[in-house]
Amino acid sequence: MGCLNSDKNFTHWFGNIHFSGPCNRSCYFCIGQHMMALDPLDNLSSWPLRGIWKFVDECLNHNIHEINLTGSNTDPLLCQNIGKLNALLRTAIPELVLGVRTNGVVALNHLDDWKLFDKASISIPSFDEAIYEEMMGQGVTPRLEEILANSSHMQSVKINIVLGPENLADNDLAKTLDRLSDLGIKRTNLREPYGQPHLGDPLAKSAVEVKRIYGMPVYLWGQMEVTYWDVHYVEVESVNLYANGRVSADYPITRGHDALSGSVLDQSHFPGGRVSPQWQHLRLG
Ligand code: SF4
Repeated sequence: MGCLNSDKNFTHWFGNIHFSGPCNRSCYFCIGQHMMALDPLDNLSSWPLRGIWKFVDECLNHNIHEINLTGSNTDPLLCQNIGKLNALLRTAIPELVLGVRTNGVVALNHLDDWKLFDKASISIPSFDEAIYEEMMGQGVTPRLEEILANSSHMQSVKINIVLGPENLADNDLAKTLDRLSDLGIKRTNLREPYGQPHLGDPLAKSAVEVKRIYGMPVYLWGQMEVTYWDVHYVEVESVNLYANGRVSADYPITRGHDALSGSVLDQSHFPGGRVSPQWQHLRLG
């Protein structure tokens, strides 16, 4: 996603197509629960997507070449029209780099779609199944080795670890990073959760910062680059298409920082917008 502190002057721009609909996970930290207007919508089977041509125009206006399929409250790999969307975007956007931000759960079942992406970012908070279920609400960790074996066509596969008290306890984060490094992953992001108590950078005191990317610190874990990623402060800009057809360079959620002091606000009392099935404990497999 983009930056909640954006003043529209950061130089790195990309596009996001946000899907809404039922999800096959029910993470307590899902940002979708703070996007109440989008939570009841379902555009996973819609074609054409509402607002797609305005979105394309805005991407061209900002000279954007990278577009990511992502979800407000669902997994974008559940979209039934990825093939059509890929064809439309490759025709409309010169030198398109098409990415997907996914929980990876159905990647191996949707390999025809998976093969269309140039890059992927997969959310896995832990390889410990109990911690995974605590954080993702249901299901088991996707089979990452097999997904990687089917991703040789991609420019990059990045792993996103959303931080929580669960994976910060008992050295679990270090075990996850060790395993990812052993699997040959080159980049992992440690994501500060939105709408939850702020946790802070878990590597700040124990690892050596080797550089900054988009304002965020990068550490080395073996050969793998690990970036602490806080959406409140990361210095990127994005054009976004939401399920209601709205095209915006901003988010329809409360800004999570104090504009004067820059400090992160208490985020533990956000109202819930949980109307989609995953929030009602309906398991979608
Ligand atoms: S995988 Fe989790 S965080 Fe992602 S959309 Fe589904 S419920 Fe939300």
